[in-house]
Amino acid sequence: MQPQPDDPPDHSHPRDPWRTHYAQRAQGMLASEVRALFAVASRPEIVSLAGGMPNIAALPLDDMAALMSDLVARRGTVALQYGAAQGDAGLRESICAVMAREGIADARADDVVVTAGSQQALDLVTRVFIDPGDTVVTEAPTYVTALNTFAAFQARVEHVPLDREGVIPEALAAVLARLRSEGRPPKLFYTVPTFQNPAGVTLSPARRQQVIDICRRAGVLVLEDNPYGLLHFDGEPMRALRADDPDVVYLGSFSKTLAPGLRVGWALAPTAVKDKLVLAAESAVLSPSPLAQMTVETYLRTQPWEDQLKVFREMYRERRDALLDALHQYMSPGIGWNTPGGGFFVWVTLPAGLDAQAMLPRAIGTRVAYVPGTGFYADSNGRHEMRLSYCYPTPDRIREGVRRLAEVIREEITL
Ligand code: PMP
Repeated sequence: MQPQPDDPPDHSHPRDPWRTHYAQRAQGMLASEVRALFAVASRPEIVSLAGGMPNIAALPLDDMAALMSDLVARRGTVALQYGAAQGDAGLRESICAVMAREGIADARADDVVVTAGSQQALDLVTRVFIDPGDTVVTEAPTYVTALNTFAAFQARVEHVPLDREGVIPEALAAVLARLRSEGRPPKLFYTVPTFQNPAGVTLSPARRQQVIDICRRAGVLVLEDNPYGLLHFDGEPMRALRADDPDVVYLGSFSKTLAPGLRVGWALAPTAVKDKLVLAAESAVLSPSPLAQMTVETYLRTQPWEDQLKVFREMYRERRDALLDALHQYMSPGIGWNTPGGGFFVWVTLPAGLDAQAMLPRAIGTRVAYVPGTGFYADSNGRHEMRLSYCYPTPDRIREGVRRLAEVIREEITL
C-alpha cells in the first residue's frame, strides 16, 4: 500500500535530527522497489530482465561527441547560459513535428514545455493539479515511478484493470462513476496507452475514442504518457489520444528514441495548463539544460534520426522475439504472457499461488532478475505477476535468462 495522508510518520532513521521536521508529503516519497533491484541486477553474472534501460550502445557516440563539441565551440555562450523556463523555441518546433508522426496535427510550439525527461513533466502536472487527498485514476498495473510521484503529492490512487487491448473502458466508466458517487471525483486519469510500462500492452484503436469520451463526460483530465510510441515493431506509429482530443495533456520523451542521459522530455498541454506548467518549471529548475536541448535540436536537424529509429526498432524487435521464443521453449504450462507490438516489456502471469516477490531471491541466486508485479500496483495486487524487459541484454543472454527463470519457476511449482 502507498502511504496515505493520515499515515503515521516514518521512523526509519531514528537518529535523523530532522525526522520531526519533514513535510507530510515526504512521507509519501517511496524508495522504488524497482530501482533498489537494479543495484543487484547490474552484477555482470546476472541476466537482468529487470531494468528498462535503453540500449545506448546502438547510438553512434562519435557523431554525438562531435555534435556536442561543435555546439560548445560555436554556440557555447548560448548552450552554457541559462535558458527560458519553457524551453528552447527551435526544439519546441521540432517536438511538434515529432508528435505529428502520431497524428497530432494541431500542436503549437507555444503549448509545449520542455522538461528534464518526461518524468519531470509528470511531476509538474501532478504538482499543478493534485492537492493532498485528491484522487488519481491509473491503469493496473502502471508505471512505478508515476505511482511514486502521485504518492509524493499525497494523491489517492484508484486502479482500473487492463487486458491485452489496454485499459477496459467499461471498468474505467464504472470506477469514475463509483468515485463520483463516493463524493471524490478524480482529477486525472494517467495512462500509458502505447506499449505500456509495465504490461507491454497497447490500447486498441476501438477503445481509444471510448476512453476519451468517458473521461470527457466525467470531467477527468487525461494524462497521456507516451515515451515508447515511436518504437513500434510493425507498420505505422499508433495514433496518440491527444490527436483526437486537444484537452489531453500529452507527455513525450527523447529518452527511448535518442538518449535518456540528455534528460529531454516534454509536455504538450492546453494553453492555460501550459502556463501553470511553465511557472512550476521555473521554480523547479529555472530552465531545462540549454546544452541538452540544443544537442537534441541539432541532432534532429542534422543527423539521420529516421535511420537511428529503425536501428532501435530492429534491435528491440529482435530482442522481443528472442524473449518470446525462449518463453515458448522453456516455460511450463499455466504461465501466460502477451506479445508487445513495440517498447521494452512483456508481462508474465504465473499460476495463482506462486509469489513472484518471494521467488526473487531464488531467481537472483540462479543469476536472473525480473521485477515482481507488486511494485506496479498501489494496492496489494500483482503477487503472481512479473515484468520482463528485453531492451538491454543481447538475444543470447535473454534466452539464457529465460532458461534460468523457467528453471526457478519449475522448482517453485513442484515445491
Ligand atoms: N513514463 C514511462 C511510462 C516510462 O517508462 C519512463 C521511463 N522509464 C518515463 C515516463 C520517464 O522517462 P524520462 O524521464 O526518461 O523521459
